[in-house]
Amino acid sequence: MDERMPHTLLAFHAHPDDEALLTSGTMARAAAEGHRVVLVVATDGGEGLAATEYAGDGGLAVRRMGELEASARALGVARVEHLGYADSGLGPHAPPDPPGATRFVRANTDEAAARLAAILTEEDADVLLTYDPNGGYGHPDHVKAHEVGMRAAELAGTRRVLQATVPRDTIRRAIDLAAKVYRFPPEFDRNSFNRAFSARRDITHRISVRRHIVAKRASMRAHASQASADGGADRTLAAFLRIPRPLYDLVFGREWYVDATAEAHGITHPPDENGDCALDRGDRALDGEGTRKGRAAGRKHSGIRTDVFEGLT
Ligand SMILES: [Zn+2]
Repeated sequence: MDERMPHTLLAFHAHPDDEALLTSGTMARAAAEGHRVVLVVATDGGEGLAATEYAGDGGLAVRRMGELEASARALGVARVEHLGYADSGLGPHAPPDPPGATRFVRANTDEAAARLAAILTEEDADVLLTYDPNGGYGHPDHVKAHEVGMRAAELAGTRRVLQATVPRDTIRRAIDLAAKVYRFPPEFDRNSFNRAFSARRDITHRISVRRHIVAKRASMRAHASQASADGGADRTLAAFLRIPRPLYDLVFGREWYVDATAEAHGITHPPDENGDCALDRGDRALDGEGTRKGRAAGRKHSGIRTDVFEGLT
């Protein structure tokens, strides 16, 4: 336990499994350091592409919520909540609402935000993790999660809002590595990541989660149980788990955020005369060999934050 006050971190995600890839290391690290970690999902993930044996009878949602509980246990999460919306699916048009639930994309943003804000307030959460405006790779429910998360923080007066993201070049590298040992389903379009997530220069927080990689892998494994399924983006997790361990640690040993109020916090990374910013140089040094020198270079540059609670009292 360090000298700081324990804080409360609330991670908001669209579907069960989204936490594994984007924020599980940050969550495990916060819990291990003595903070309270709460996980909220908007939907039950019932429209995920999965084995036909689970789809179609509502069994998939039940199964995926079970996986979410297993992931949460691995990460040290204290509380798991579901906002009660139905998964909208990946297609351009969400299927009709199932009995008794609204597809998340059709939800009234203020009403959904009020549900999340109630939990933020009840927990007196210090930090909210939500999505970037692209919704990562653009799933309609992820874009909606961005809108709902930002509005909820406003309603609850949450002090710090961090948008989970990945530098685009890093996600492409992870996919290229995975492609060496795994054949992605034909519908998986690598080029769809060209405009997804965030440009490296916009990232304000880079969190090292290498010491929590075992928990992160356990979280990914909890959801990758659909690996024998007959298709689906969820199996991206299974593909990533097959990356040889040293490379996996290099790619997944860090998580990234954009502080939505970065201007207010005075974080900027002005480009130098080459149009390169210090963050790029520091990150390249880190990526290069992970040496002590590289890590020092990564730390020294222009004020990238390395702790989600930094500066909170
Ligand atoms: Zn999702």
